[in-house]
Amino acid sequence: MRAIDKVLIANRGEIALRVMRTCRAMGIATVAVYSDADAEAPFVRFADEAVRIGPAPARESYLVINAILDAARTTGAHAIHPGYGFLSENAAFAEAVADAGLVFIGPPAPVIGKLGSKQAAKRIAKTAGVPVVPGYEGDDQATSAFVAAAKGIGYPLLVKASAGGSGKGMRIVRAEGELVEAIERARGEAASAFGDDTLLLEKYIERPRHIEIQILGDQHGNVVHLWERECSIQRRHQKVIEEAPSVALDSDRRAAMGRAAVELGKAVGYVGAGTVEFIVPTGRSESNPFHSGSPSGEFYFLEVNTRLQVEHPVTELTLGLDLVREQIRIARGEHLGYDVAPPQRGWAIEVRLCAEDPERDYLPTTGTLLAVDVPSTVRADIGVTAGTEIGIHYDSMLGKIIAHAPTRREAAQVLRRALEELWVPGLITNREHLAKILAHPAFLAGELDTHFLERHAGELAARAPGLDRLRVAAIALTLHGIAVRRPAEPLAPPGWRNVPVADQQVTYKLGDTDVSLGYRPGEAGAMAFSIGGKEIHVSSFGVDGDRLWFVELGGHRRQARIATSGGRSWVASEGQVLALVEEPRFPDLAARGVAGGLTAPMPGKVVKVLVITGQEVLAGAALVVLEAMKMEHTVRASEAGTVRAIHVIAGDQVDADRLLAVVTV
Ligand code: ADP
Repeated sequence: MRAIDKVLIANRGEIALRVMRTCRAMGIATVAVYSDADAEAPFVRFADEAVRIGPAPARESYLVINAILDAARTTGAHAIHPGYGFLSENAAFAEAVADAGLVFIGPPAPVIGKLGSKQAAKRIAKTAGVPVVPGYEGDDQATSAFVAAAKGIGYPLLVKASAGGSGKGMRIVRAEGELVEAIERARGEAASAFGDDTLLLEKYIERPRHIEIQILGDQHGNVVHLWERECSIQRRHQKVIEEAPSVALDSDRRAAMGRAAVELGKAVGYVGAGTVEFIVPTGRSESNPFHSGSPSGEFYFLEVNTRLQVEHPVTELTLGLDLVREQIRIARGEHLGYDVAPPQRGWAIEVRLCAEDPERDYLPTTGTLLAVDVPSTVRADIGVTAGTEIGIHYDSMLGKIIAHAPTRREAAQVLRRALEELWVPGLITNREHLAKILAHPAFLAGELDTHFLERHAGELAARAPGLDRLRVAAIALTLHGIAVRRPAEPLAPPGWRNVPVADQQVTYKLGDTDVSLGYRPGEAGAMAFSIGGKEIHVSSFGVDGDRLWFVELGGHRRQARIATSGGRSWVASEGQVLALVEEPRFPDLAARGVAGGLTAPMPGKVVKVLVITGQEVLAGAALVVLEAMKMEHTVRASEAGTVRAIHVIAGDQVDADRLLAVVTV
């Protein structure tokens, strides 16, 4: 048995945090390694120790084997957990870790080496009797060999880079005439992207489901499977939503796939956590796209991922297991202690929350997160926090959100609701897109395949917000503006009196659209807002941190959350987040230019003037009391100084931003 009392996590973000949490729960100390871009990241703060390993680009930090080994030596770590991505499937890294006398929490280097090549992995699978996608994975890499093999496979087919990953290095060829060019291009790309130009051919399965089996192997020859995950919701061959169990499997097929995965694991001497990926034809095809009949019973091996998968939590929640704990137990040399996985309980669905814009072909977005708040109904594996800058150096995934419920429908509903409430203002994410997928009838009916997102793109596209949402957001933001311009004032409303001042106008930009809103005191002490041709009377409102509520005449209470940065406000209400930019209200207002000028934060009536010209005042001294919007509030000196001028007397009606007094040093 190897002692593992201190683990270095050679990764970043959510997975580094997730691994550290389990280490901490097991009484194991943690070491983070970080690049300059991550110096303040949550995983660095969470770790017991952290070591800088280089500048932001991954090839100068997270991919530098020696820097990571040095960090392990410096801190006296016993073991290294590679997470996923980066060096997690790099056999040379696993070997270097072992050579340094440390424990690599993952399979032995030779196993990673064999399975890292799709070509070798398919051959191993075939030998183990596991069905593979019909294709060509021969050693003869001459173009003529591929051309000859393609005749037997038929079209469409896929040209794949043997060393490819993350959906990269694949090319669909629909007709013989395109083959030679596709092979030559794929070869060049594979050489430059993966440093290995080995290619293989595979029959292209139209509209398959992606179903994978989690396996665990211990150092004593035991290999078990932990059932399946379905990962058919993909964009660019990359997973977006994953779930367990899969609706596509009956118990026979589930068992057959589990057995196949275990056979493969045994054939290769698998140790640690791994995933055997399969594709499963659905019976749908280009010629018959609406046939959603049950899959045919076939399944084909795709590849093995020799690491913890991003989507491992759905297995954890349905089985009540902690896979990182299992990995560490295996690395210590413990026996697995079970031959059969625990039964699957209920349903778990995971979404990958990404800084990306589904409306712009899922392009990554950047920005600074102003807040991160996830409802407590779901598991959140998130590596970011308020203030985290999302830059260009790493993957766009901010984290994962996972719901677990007794039924699939309920898991989807809980997750959708959590996404609607999720508060991550500051940049564009796929939050709303994910919520829409979870609410889509085809998703709820379990009609999944890897082309789901393309097929339903029209229905899943973002729509312009309805007028009602827009109204709520604009009113909330305006009321919020009024409240924050009146700092340190209690919100206790001492009775809202009718203040007959002129309409105030505010204009917000929502993208290229102008949203104009007028407001004035209305009937029965309410404030009347007019927007998009409708009047809304607000009888009261309040602010609680970043939340704002208001009550419409008649008693409908609405609420919103607001975060503002750099002139842009993110307003969340009823599941939608709108980014509004306020247009300058009074661009040429004289008061703006007056040094020491104090202005009315809202339209109202001057109740009292508390100072006289020439008076010396301290910072924070009360100068003028205004009344409006059901409350009284005091305008105070922002700095100590002398009152140089007073521009109002008690009883005056003033507009917002009207110059009230001037105080200078
Ligand atoms: P990677 O290693 O890049 O993730 P995989 O071989 O695991 O590549 O495939 C990723 C995804 O690509 C699959 O989930 C599926 O959507 C698609 N894919 C791969 N092979 C095939 C195939 N033969 N036919 C149809 N789709 C495929």
